[in-house]
Amino acid sequence: MRSPGREDGWYRGDCHVHSVSSNGGELTPERLADEARAAGLDFLAATEHNNADTHGAWGRCAGDDLLVVPGQEVTTRTGHWLALGLRPGQVVDWRYGVRDEVVGRQLDEVHRGSGLCVVAHPHAPYDSGTFLYPYQGFDVVEVWNGPWSSDLPWQADNEAALAEWGRSLGADIRRQGGWRPAMGNSDAHLSGQIGVPHTVVWAEELSVDAVLAGIRAGRSWIAESAAVELSFTVSAGVQRMGVGGQLESRGGPVVARVGVRGVPSGAVSFHTERGKVHVASLPGAGAGTVEWRTSARESAFLRVEVRHPGGRMAALSNPVTLR
Ligand SMILES: [Zn+2]
Ligand SMILES: [Zn+2]
Repeated sequence: MRSPGREDGWYRGDCHVHSVSSNGGELTPERLADEARAAGLDFLAATEHNNADTHGAWGRCAGDDLLVVPGQEVTTRTGHWLALGLRPGQVVDWRYGVRDEVVGRQLDEVHRGSGLCVVAHPHAPYDSGTFLYPYQGFDVVEVWNGPWSSDLPWQADNEAALAEWGRSLGADIRRQGGWRPAMGNSDAHLSGQIGVPHTVVWAEELSVDAVLAGIRAGRSWIAESAAVELSFTVSAGVQRMGVGGQLESRGGPVVARVGVRGVPSGAVSFHTERGKVHVASLPGAGAGTVEWRTSARESAFLRVEVRHPGGRMAALSNPVTLR
């Protein structure tokens, strides 16, 4: 029998979640844990605004089937960021802006404890929510925050965050300096919000260290809900690589293969440093496989988006890089 959380595999989690200990938060940790399980999640990160008040409360809500990562949303004067994997009770300072030049010290402190620093909703259209620091020193970018819907103001800022991230990938990969993975989180404050969207991570097991390692390496993709399934592999001859990996193609032809479920009549698109290079439609039942051929000379990386008819995002992947 499969023992939950003890094996390597894909785990679904939402790493930006607020309870009653944050402004605007209406749910207790117990209620959030119930809703996380109902939404098909395996883990969540507790990220209250500038406090660790609920860190102690999550122990009784977590279990073999639900991991809780201690964290914080650090709401500074010129942008918000998520500190994930804090020591229980640890609070990161938030009382500064970009002109104070102290954010680097705060990032170092989180990194010293093996935590992860995530740029939160970089194009949020409200006071102090727009992210005005350089991305240098941050590990991951939250390119998808909350519902991606054409009838909410959020669509414009998610599209802007995604476009900015996509544009930086080519240069970051060429410099060999490493690229910054994308993640998606709900920023839930109210009932019914958790898990929309969430990040699906390949991890050695369901533990804080293993899940954060998977997110840091970009072995992940973002799902609108647990109804959406995505598999993305790239192969050259007998070599095969999944999302977040680097494929050694030795100059030969490369085949990218995407399998999707749960997106009726959706559109699958492939993206490289040349932008959107291929689009294919999914059948009405929402399940299908799409292939596209390229080479390392033509494409330094490949990533995938899956959208509903009308353009709302259903899933998007981190890249596979090609050599
Ligand atoms: Zn925020
Ligand atoms: Zn938030």
